[in-house]
Amino acid sequence: MLIFSVVAGMFATVSLPAFASSPHGDPVATMSYHHGTAQRLAVGAVAAADAQHDDYTATTQEELDRAKAAAAAAAKAKQAASALGNVDLSMVAPGTGAVRWPLPYYDSIGDGFMSRGGEHQGVDLLVGAGTPIFSVAAGTVKVSSESYYGYGVGIVIEHVIGGQRVETTYGHMTYGSRAVQVGDRVAAGQLIGLVGSTGQSTANHLHFEVRVNGGLVDPLAWLRANAG
Ligand SMILES: [Zn+2]
Repeated sequence: MLIFSVVAGMFATVSLPAFASSPHGDPVATMSYHHGTAQRLAVGAVAAADAQHDDYTATTQEELDRAKAAAAAAAKAKQAASALGNVDLSMVAPGTGAVRWPLPYYDSIGDGFMSRGGEHQGVDLLVGAGTPIFSVAAGTVKVSSESYYGYGVGIVIEHVIGGQRVETTYGHMTYGSRAVQVGDRVAAGQLIGLVGSTGQSTANHLHFEVRVNGGLVDPLAWLRANAG
């Protein structure tokens, strides 16, 4: 969309003076064709609408086709860049509590807290790519990155829950699926991204971590005690 907007902007800013500069209602005759692509595209749009200028139309139709192809490519790139294209961003986690589960469901539990010889600081919840991930509580986004160390696409959110300082981490999300940025305030259960397998990951899952007052806790036990 950004690229398309820029192209559209070029049309707008360049084509208006072209029209304005014509005293005879025939901008093609008064324009030079050699002041850059954007200008030629803008003039081309006028020339294509004017059947008398066949010699110009041949060139400008090509330019128009090229512009059309560029717009289509931009639209495609935008779709690829945002995995959230067809996602309802207003969806929220099930439940009504101040703390929610970070997923609507999961298939199985993978590596648990402190597994891998104590190196695994969270829990792995295995579920398909594209499954929505929710902030487990209201808070403020501390990290939102497409490349957050081994977490890959990762988000960290700070909360205050029952007077405790709680920090939650969500890892291995799908590229382009982050729905929140650093500094954003989020509500309990708000959609923040989609499950993926980015970073140090070999299967689609959510890696979820919880720190309470700075210390790691077992995320599953914490969820089971608090989420609802
Ligand atoms: Zn993990």
